[in-house]
Amino acid sequence: MDVNSYMDVKSLCRVCNNFVSASLFRLHHDYKQMVCPTCFSGKTKQKEEQERELKQQEIKAAKAKPRGWDADDEYLEKMARIKREENQAQFTKIAGTNEVKAQCSACKYVFKYDPFKKKPYNCPYCNVEVPKLKNYNLL
Ligand SMILES: [Zn+2]
Ligand SMILES: [Zn+2]
Repeated sequence: MDVNSYMDVKSLCRVCNNFVSASLFRLHHDYKQMVCPTCFSGKTKQKEEQERELKQQEIKAAKAKPRGWDADDEYLEKMARIKREENQAQFTKIAGTNEVKAQCSACKYVFKYDPFKKKPYNCPYCNVEVPKLKNYNLL
């Protein structure tokens, strides 16, 4: 063991709870006791304030984005996508015309659909909105 450290008497600083060489202790008039150099210079106080601020930021962040937010969001996104796919009417090109046959996803009614005029807007049978025809490569 190092002789110097063996000789170095350490004392507990009651402010930061660290053992520091007793010779370095100084009387701090705010703490009204002997404190280590770190506490004397006010670094301990600074650190405490930084930590408190950090905690508050963490709390704020936790409130803004609750635990499990990502998973829930992903789930909702997935459900919305499934729903979109379900609502996707089936389109089939009618040979020799610019029109397509559309099958309503809700009632399975088949009707003529004009992909250029985007008409009809609704299923003639059940009035469900006809999804926009995306697959123009069908034509
Ligand atoms: Zn201290
Ligand atoms: Zn319909």
